[in-house]
Amino acid sequence: MYKTISACRGCGRSTLREILALGDMPLSNGLLSDSQLSQEEPKIPLTVVFCPACSLVQIRETVDPRVLFSPDYPYFSSVSDAWVGHCRDNALELIGSRNLGPSSRVVEIASNDGYLLRNYAERGIPVLGIDPASGPAAVARQNGIPTREAFFGPDLARTLVDEGIQADVIHANNVLAHVADLIGVVNGMRTLLTDHGVAVIKVPYVRDLIDHCEFDTIYHEHLCYFSVTAVSRLIAQQGLVLQDVRRLPTHGGSLRLYVQRSGSPSVAVVRLLDEERELGVDRAGFYEDFAARVRSIQTTLKELLESIKARGERIAGYAVSAKGAILLNSSGIDGRLLDYVVDRSPHKQGKAMPGVHLRVYDPVKLLEPPSPDYLLLLAWNFKDEIMQQQKEYRNRGGRFIVPIPVPEIVAEPPAV
Ligand SMILES: [Zn+2]
Repeated sequence: MYKTISACRGCGRSTLREILALGDMPLSNGLLSDSQLSQEEPKIPLTVVFCPACSLVQIRETVDPRVLFSPDYPYFSSVSDAWVGHCRDNALELIGSRNLGPSSRVVEIASNDGYLLRNYAERGIPVLGIDPASGPAAVARQNGIPTREAFFGPDLARTLVDEGIQADVIHANNVLAHVADLIGVVNGMRTLLTDHGVAVIKVPYVRDLIDHCEFDTIYHEHLCYFSVTAVSRLIAQQGLVLQDVRRLPTHGGSLRLYVQRSGSPSVAVVRLLDEERELGVDRAGFYEDFAARVRSIQTTLKELLESIKARGERIAGYAVSAKGAILLNSSGIDGRLLDYVVDRSPHKQGKAMPGVHLRVYDPVKLLEPPSPDYLLLLAWNFKDEIMQQQKEYRNRGGRFIVPIPVPEIVAEPPAV
């Protein structure tokens, strides 16, 4: 079901150093049906390591993608309104800055149901989606987005070029962090790009992960966590240049990378490389106290919940996600501390969270007596949005617990 790497996913050297061991974790995205609850649930170690040679942070375990991305993997649920708007802005900017038109081509790796490529297709720019998941790919084709049902790699890139397809723009959002053959995917991008083309790549920024102690964004799907230093080394090996970079607040902190066959690094690239060198992001010392800080959050949070329970008060969890599954399972927070969890998605309601097996309900349950006294925000990255949504719960005296970066009780909504 899984393999353990001994060589770095970025440079192949075998000097990996352990940063954090979260222990045996369930597959964080799979919600369990009643029939699955009666079977034994797989648990797989989750260990973060650092490569001193190329400075790539990665997990040691590679779970078989057929197990990880099973047909019922919730692809669609991760696409929020805010993210769709963000993608449209990104597309419009590129159409303008790269002068894209009917003779251009835009390719997206992991194109889902085509929500990004649609922005180009609507303006007469030829597109091609690539996605191995049949459900979303079929929806994309129905919406007029040509989509290949395949995993992207050097072989597919070569096939496309042989068919006369090259890319003026390649989009790869949340791809590099997910692929076991990291080098192959980067190599394939180089093959597919035209001489003046650009690959626009979004990856989680390891500096935000460490600075804000976002350990619950570590799960088996996320094989790598990137710094600008690590990514520029990785792509340079494949004959590519990191031309520009932007920091984004999405998903707890991300980088948007602009990668080309040639060109020189922008001021932003040079500045971030300098900052990382100064902070020591490229050295093991930067990661030394991370595990201790994670343990401290886990212990503080568990003690906070225990003290609330000891007073006879009730606690529910809000927003079921991979993040929440890792937070609860790695902190030992289960049905003894949380009464239940709620989520707005009807696809999740009625099922149970992996590992801790807490049942998922519709958020209306929060207003049914006995209402929980506290709501633990499992999707802390949407805390402002959730606290606004749960006005009624709040008006009735409900309080919120934000677990990260420091567990705290919040009673008032943010000012708007
Ligand atoms: Zn390495």
